[in-house]
Amino acid sequence: MDRATPQVIIVGAGITGLSLAWRLAEHNVSFTILEQSNRPGGQIHTLHENGYTFESGPNTGSISNPEVAELFDFASPYASLEEAASAAHCRLICKKGKLHVLPNGLLSGLSTPLFSFSDKLRVACEPFRAKGNNPLESVGALAQRRLGKSIVDYAVDPFVGGIYASDPYFLTAQYALPKLYNLEQEYGSFIRGALAKAKIKKSERERRATKAVFSSKGGLHNLVEALAHKLSQQGSLCYSTTIESVRYTAEGNWQISYHEADKESQIVEAPFYVTTVRGDLLRDVLPPVLYDHLAPIEQLLYAPIWEIAVGFDHYKGDGRRAFGALIPTKEKRDLLGVLFPSDCFSDRVPYKDSRLFTLFMGGLRDGNRFISLSEEELQQKGLKDLYALLRIPHSLEPSMVHLSYFPKAIPQYGIDSEERLKAIMRLESDYPGLYLAGGIRDGIGMAHRIKQGSDLALEIIQKLQR
Ligand SMILES: Cc1cc2nc3c(=O)[nH]c(=O)nc-3n(C[C@H](O)[C@H](O)[C@H](O)COP(=O)(O)OP(=O)(O)OC[C@H]3O[C@@H](n4cnc5c(N)ncnc54)[C@H](O)[C@@H]3O)c2cc1C
Repeated sequence: MDRATPQVIIVGAGITGLSLAWRLAEHNVSFTILEQSNRPGGQIHTLHENGYTFESGPNTGSISNPEVAELFDFASPYASLEEAASAAHCRLICKKGKLHVLPNGLLSGLSTPLFSFSDKLRVACEPFRAKGNNPLESVGALAQRRLGKSIVDYAVDPFVGGIYASDPYFLTAQYALPKLYNLEQEYGSFIRGALAKAKIKKSERERRATKAVFSSKGGLHNLVEALAHKLSQQGSLCYSTTIESVRYTAEGNWQISYHEADKESQIVEAPFYVTTVRGDLLRDVLPPVLYDHLAPIEQLLYAPIWEIAVGFDHYKGDGRRAFGALIPTKEKRDLLGVLFPSDCFSDRVPYKDSRLFTLFMGGLRDGNRFISLSEEELQQKGLKDLYALLRIPHSLEPSMVHLSYFPKAIPQYGIDSEERLKAIMRLESDYPGLYLAGGIRDGIGMAHRIKQGSDLALEIIQKLQR
């Protein structure tokens, strides 16, 4: 039987596994990636239909750390980073059936009809409000205490619904939005903290984290294809793999037996073993001796999402260009939000007057309500809200509709997060060389995953150099 002996084995060729491999490759550390599906990217998947290019999975990320820009440097020239057009600065929120621009400055904040007058005054007093002391406070409770209920209802709730497919009173601030939580903990106030942070001088590398909205030219799949192409020249990427057994050897190595499609079994052995799979899939990729310790990780809740791409060849309706629109729970609609990808990125639609929308439904808010509906019923619900919000004439039929369903889309960092993180740390310390990565910790977005992969690689490289 063949036996490969790289320095690191990675399970999963999603953006976490690929980012980890990128940083390892940069330091000439050998790796093998074992991927169950027949393509790289995991949740990242770009589709093409009737002249439309759309995402089935994540649509955009934020360049919130320099690692995102550096990953694109590595992927060049096979993929290139595309920053969203200026339309992405405009974000719409639905109130009483109408779309309003989310304020992004003092004047627009004062005049917006989204928030109550008393909460506008409350925001002005935020720097002087006492600091909270509950480490398990929810995002909703934290924001309500510091900013007011109308701001939770018409800013925080739609934001949390749109990004986490969640409920602000479910997510624990310390784990779900650690930057926001730490502003209060470190500076006593969001506003004072943000002002103080803005004054900190940034290195040239840190300045690459522009916070701009990004995609990859031609769709995110181009990024993962480019990474896989470059990485396959420096390491081993195996697709359509089934892991048969995982063993921690007496010598302290990780020995994995697997086969690719209908080929013969192979063995790969390495001192470092990194998993990037969901919490509920860990048993498939860990030795049975660890199963008793997995419960707090396996119990991580994931919100379901239905994502519907809708294209209009010759669009008529609300002509505002924007990043998208978010729908607060209070509005009692079927949509969580709508993205406007063709306003932000080039070459996504067939004609100049075409428009592409991506609708999101479900989440913690409506997952149970929608689970028994047929695809047609879900599409009808989504389109009904889209037509009403954007005042699209009913005579205009969509030219393309594509529905994707993700039963376990977004991990929910709730009150059980501390137990989960403790369980991960315990396993990693009891079994040297093991790392449990992916969305079970460190944030849910692509930028989090890229940074996590890169940080883990640097940690492994340091250990190899000792
Ligand atoms: C509908 C949706 C919309 C989203 N929108 C956004 C967004 O707009 N912006 C954003 O930043 N993020 C978004 N996200 C989150 C983002 O997609 C994820 O954070 C990221 O893609 C996860 O990458 P990952 O590599 O950690 O996991 P995955 O992409 O899940 O990769 C894990 C890989 O492991 C493989 N695997 C599983 N089991 C095994 C096994 N037994 N053996 C071998 N391989 C295995 C899987 O096939 C998969 O390829 C969205 C997610 C979804 C589902």
